[in-house]
Amino acid sequence: MTSRRVVVVGAGIVGAAVAARLAEAGLRVTLLDQDEPGRATSRWSFAWVNSNDKAPQPYHDLNHAGMRAWAELAPDLDGAAWYRPSGHVELATAGTGELEARVSRLTEWGYPARLVSPAEAAELEPALRLPAPAAAFFPDEGYLLTEPLIARLVARAESHGAQVLTGEPARVTSIDTSGDAPPQVRTVAGAVLEADEVICCAGRWTPSLAAVPLIPWQSSGSTAPGLVVRVGPVAPPGPVRLLHTPDLAVRPHPGGLLHLEAEDAAAAVDLHTPEPELRRWAAELLRRARRTVRGLDDARVVAHQVCVRPLPPDGQSIVGRLPGAPGIYVAVTHSGVTLAAHLSRLIAADLTTGTPPAALSPYTPARFTPTPLDPGRLDPGRLDPGRLDPGRLDPGPRRPSARPGAAPRAP
Ligand SMILES: Cc1cc2nc3c(=O)[nH]c(=O)nc-3n(C[C@H](O)[C@H](O)[C@H](O)COP(=O)(O)OP(=O)(O)OC[C@H]3O[C@@H](n4cnc5c(N)ncnc54)[C@H](O)[C@@H]3O)c2cc1C
Repeated sequence: MTSRRVVVVGAGIVGAAVAARLAEAGLRVTLLDQDEPGRATSRWSFAWVNSNDKAPQPYHDLNHAGMRAWAELAPDLDGAAWYRPSGHVELATAGTGELEARVSRLTEWGYPARLVSPAEAAELEPALRLPAPAAAFFPDEGYLLTEPLIARLVARAESHGAQVLTGEPARVTSIDTSGDAPPQVRTVAGAVLEADEVICCAGRWTPSLAAVPLIPWQSSGSTAPGLVVRVGPVAPPGPVRLLHTPDLAVRPHPGGLLHLEAEDAAAAVDLHTPEPELRRWAAELLRRARRTVRGLDDARVVAHQVCVRPLPPDGQSIVGRLPGAPGIYVAVTHSGVTLAAHLSRLIAADLTTGTPPAALSPYTPARFTPTPLDPGRLDPGRLDPGRLDPGRLDPGPRRPSARPGAAPRAP
């Protein structure tokens, strides 16, 4: 049993999972969040657990391992409250070539995926009303209910001795290192916490605390924000599976609601979009949902929210020790809902054995370390999202689509 002190900054799905694993491993954990746990990006996520369209193959494998990690954790963490291995039905209403090619690639990679006839698609999801010339089924995919899940992860951390501090006084203003001295975490309330390791899991706010680049998310036209719409009530029998059509992504949500997203809506909004424009998109997504599934005759828009993806510039996770900053470790990623259980396991192995697992080596923060030849790489202001390949930036929601209005795929 070790008594190393670890401060985890951020109690979204990533920080909560990391805190739970490290506390279970016997480390002395303090978990800090400037808000209540799980109220930032993780709360509004589509929360699709998948490796449906992730590349290259090592990143696909990482996400596939992420899916298995939740399945393994669920029986031991009250999974009935948050784990929804619903399966995923995808309809191709126009060209089917891309779907066929993807299913074929995934099958070669050992990922459960198969093309299904329109009749079988209707059997798999009786609430579907949209006819489709082609469809596919991904039986091992599903979604998570992040709020009850994060509550359980934080409770698990506490049950293993973690101290959890939340709200404005727990807002971290800096993480400092100096020579070989242990890192220090400073809060807005003036506290200084000394630790052997600080794990920065601050989601989209990470660059304000640790020198890693994310796609800038506050500017007009940023590709990081997306639009989430929740509608209801859904009259039974509403959909029970996670669904994609080319212009809509749908999953059930607690309280008799559906959670909706669409790629064209995500591309059209940012943190500056006027409210009437957001309401117009929300109404449009409800219209598409009514066309797609049964049960929405009396439904209205219950909530709409612009929420922000933490987006590393190459679309893949940033996990590991920060070069030149002893004791500071970063874990920030898109697809964090899919990845958190597995990444937290890898991070715990790294910290308890002192050897980074090979699975983490492609994701080290050092890949963004500025070199004398490329001194600007760490300056997020110099990352121009418009000049990045959207497919690489975010293999899911921003993947170029066959036609306008394609749904967010594989976030
Ligand atoms: C629209 C949308 C759809 C998505 N769909 C999917 C999907 O289908 N599947 C999937 O796997 N992923 C999806 N994602 C991505 C996924 O939601 C994120 O990768 C994940 O939620 C990130 O979790 P996190 O814990 O890193 O960040 P967050 O949930 O944002 O948590 C970070 C926490 O850090 C705290 N914090 C920040 N700064 C400080 C500070 N200075 N001091 C103290 N605390 C601080 C915040 O309060 C917050 O609680 C989606 C994201 C969006 C926006």
